Amino acid sequence: MKNWKKFATMSLAAGMSMMLLAGCSGSTTETTAAPETAAAAETEAAEETEAAEETEAAAESAEESEAEAEAEGFAEDVQAIVDRGVLHVGVKNAVIGFGYQDTLTGEYSGMEIDLAQKIADYLGVDVEYTAVTAATRGELLDSGDIDCVLATFTITDARKETWDFTTPYYTDYVTVLVEQSSGITSLEGLKDAKVGVSSGSTSAKSLTEAMIEAGFISDENYDAETFDPATWTEGISFQQYDDYPTISTALSAGEVDAFCVDKSILAVYNTDSRTYIDEQFAPQEYGIATTKGSGFSEVCEELITGWLSDGTIDGLIEEYSLN
Ligand code: GLU
Repeated sequence: MKNWKKFATMSLAAGMSMMLLAGCSGSTTETTAAPETAAAAETEAAEETEAAEETEAAAESAEESEAEAEAEGFAEDVQAIVDRGVLHVGVKNAVIGFGYQDTLTGEYSGMEIDLAQKIADYLGVDVEYTAVTAATRGELLDSGDIDCVLATFTITDARKETWDFTTPYYTDYVTVLVEQSSGITSLEGLKDAKVGVSSGSTSAKSLTEAMIEAGFISDENYDAETFDPATWTEGISFQQYDDYPTISTALSAGEVDAFCVDKSILAVYNTDSRTYIDEQFAPQEYGIATTKGSGFSEVCEELITGWLSDGTIDGLIEEYSLN
């Protein structure tokens, strides 16, 4: 009898957890055997009630402690994401291997997409992607439209003053794409060129510093703190654009002589008529950006460092052929 009761409790528990999982209510009596006599039925009914009460109490206390653990375990801002049920992530939509959206299916793929999905899985929520650019990602984070940026976002000291960044999950380099017909093959060939860059990117500063270091332009008026691509004209000049497809069109049209940004971003614009210059420079360490001082910053940092040490990140780099 004891064993039977245990079994009944277990099957009730199983039935209840199935109900919980299925998110519906209903009778679980069909899972127990039919009673043979009225007395047996009464005893059975009493035991069933007792068992059901026990199971219910156990389920309730489990739910309570789960809620308590969550309340204790997550900072308020992280709990708000959990309660919302959706993690909002800013990603690139045209960087193959990082954040790329298939124009036909609308599906996103890439290492940064997988990382975003994994963070959402950890929180037990869905993920929603917002396509961002170098110029919009910070604003969207500040306005709360997105919870984090996973979009080839280079960690810099200046940016760290505004946002939190995780330990880097990838390092890229800056280079320059030109039309082969231009005859430009190296940094030296970019002397006096007009270069297309994205607003809000590190590209113009990286290229100017590389040209100065190589001795092709003077550093006399260069100040890293105040450098502005819009006004720099010494030995190289820049035209800023809102997005990369527009720079690519400008390069084809001869509006600019070159297109400068991280190599990962340039890849999709490297058509048959174009080529990279010989050099690549200015290591770009990509991190997840979050609101400064938020609880979510800590969650992202813990997850990224965990995935760096357990080989998950290396696996993604391998999977998307980013090495
Ligand atoms: N990674 C560089 C940056 O953060 C290039 C711009 C971009 O990511 O679009 O500035």
